[in-house]
Amino acid sequence: QEVETQTMSLIVQKFGGTSVADVEKIQAAARKAIRAQRAGHRVVMVVSAMGKNTDALLGLAAEISDQPPAREMDMLLSTGEQVSVALVAMAIDALGSKAVSLTGGQIGMKTDNSFSRARIQSISTERIERLLDQGHIVVAAGFQGTDDDLNITTLGRGGSDTTAVALAAVLGADSCEIYTDVDGVYTTDPRRLPEARRVEVISYDEMLELASLGAGVMHNRSIEFAKKFGVPIHVRSSFSDTSGTMIVAEPESTSQPVSGAAMTADEARVTVLGVPDVPGKSYQVFSAIAERKVAVDMVVQNVGKAGRADISFTVPRGELTATLQAVESVMDEVGADGLTHDDQVSKVSVVGMNMASQTNVAARMFRALADASVNIQMITTSEIKISTLVARSDATLALRAVHDAFSLHQKPSDAKTWSQIKAERGERADVDALVSRLRNDALEALTLTGISVTDHQARITLHGVPDYPGIAADMFETIGAAGIFVDMIVQGYDGEDAATSVSFTVDADAVAKSLEVARAIYKQHQMRDVQGTGDIAKVTVSGIGLRSHTNVATKLFHELAESDINVEMINTSELQVNAVIDAKFASTAAERLKVAFAPALH
Ligand code: ASP
Ligand code: MG
Repeated sequence: QEVETQTMSLIVQKFGGTSVADVEKIQAAARKAIRAQRAGHRVVMVVSAMGKNTDALLGLAAEISDQPPAREMDMLLSTGEQVSVALVAMAIDALGSKAVSLTGGQIGMKTDNSFSRARIQSISTERIERLLDQGHIVVAAGFQGTDDDLNITTLGRGGSDTTAVALAAVLGADSCEIYTDVDGVYTTDPRRLPEARRVEVISYDEMLELASLGAGVMHNRSIEFAKKFGVPIHVRSSFSDTSGTMIVAEPESTSQPVSGAAMTADEARVTVLGVPDVPGKSYQVFSAIAERKVAVDMVVQNVGKAGRADISFTVPRGELTATLQAVESVMDEVGADGLTHDDQVSKVSVVGMNMASQTNVAARMFRALADASVNIQMITTSEIKISTLVARSDATLALRAVHDAFSLHQKPSDAKTWSQIKAERGERADVDALVSRLRNDALEALTLTGISVTDHQARITLHGVPDYPGIAADMFETIGAAGIFVDMIVQGYDGEDAATSVSFTVDADAVAKSLEVARAIYKQHQMRDVQGTGDIAKVTVSGIGLRSHTNVATKLFHELAESDINVEMINTSELQVNAVIDAKFASTAAERLKVAFAPALH
């Protein structure tokens, strides 16, 4: 008996709200779990609130109070899942199998006490394992836990995904199946572009980036869990038996530069003009915004002119007012000249694991936008993502243009299936080394994997870049044609005239050649100025969950400001925060960051 249960595979099946929206669907979910159990698996179900029940509860609360106490809100919202688990367990029982429903508290889901966005600290698996040993299907309530004082907490909207993957992680499940109303992950939102293709495999890193760009398939934090613990996730339709998309460590193709495109429609740009170009100014601006819990996205700091710089960034449109208030409150302290904004902008991005090792990916994207006559207002790049800011009226056109340009509707010729990947590397990705270093009482804590310095870098900046379609495409095609490998690219909004400025980094050995090419471009397009500096370094903080833990970039700014180090360029992604600084401070910066981030470093 003992031996048998140990070799039996365990699967976690998560059913979202639409998959348990009514009695028939609850029965269908119950049948799926029973079938899996009959096929020889131990089965843990994680269930969301029925249909739009969570929204209905939120509506009720809003009728009672504008400011419902956070604790009571979580008490209320957790009831949605409690209804579902009881009904699902009853349905299983009625079909003649054994099931036990459990609340978050009963599965020992311990969280911190930040109501409505609680983070998981630990999960005790004994009770679940005992019930599984006894032949039960365990039906666990998603989205909820309890804090140290046994207050009920919730994980944030969509949090049942995170419950499911976290359970799969601590139970050592063979896979985590996410049953939902879509049949997998697409190259872009199929409601926006019908030509989008369902992918068979996508990597954790790509999914993390796409999810934070608004591809609403999965709760971001669930992918962080999966990545930390190497849990294979299978996103599939609850209304059919066809297989969907596997989210695993590996990408679908090892050559295709881009695997997905995303559009975030409702963005706003904010520009702080004439910020004195001295250490600590970015920190003042961004910590004021962070205090209001607004997540800042694309950050571009134009290289200073006359000792002043313009800092532009984007925030969700709904947070613009709060952001402007935050910035206004520190304008005097910062000593900036002015503040502008635009709330008619959207972000269009491409994501792909393989772009890190390929040249000209950015140029291809910019060319696609130019050919569609779309003007790019801002650009930021990070290792596996390129984002552009465009006018909202151009956004869908822009999304389609890049989706086409990278032939995302076609399956890559070297695409691998999940079974091929498994055959090559075994059932689980190799994460044991990381997992063994994680503290089991802080499962969702920020997890950094390294702080490093890339020195021997140079930066080229073009000022007064005309603000019309095609310039970025021309520039980066020319640079690529000269055989120069570009690392970071930022294009910022220039307060001064109808122009922007573009900076990029290259290896220091390429600085002379890059300057030569940049000068030719500058003449051809009548720009204002070209600058090159050959002694910069890039400091990189790498880890998992760098964007859902919003304080990483702020802390980095803070530490550098405290050491009197000026941040010249910055980019952030799910995987890394990069800051470009003067090379002579590189090792000081790295040492200081290692100390500051020590508790999170693994
Ligand atoms: N019921 C919660 C929500 O609607 C959690 C979930 O569905 O994942 O956000
Ligand atoms: Mg839901």
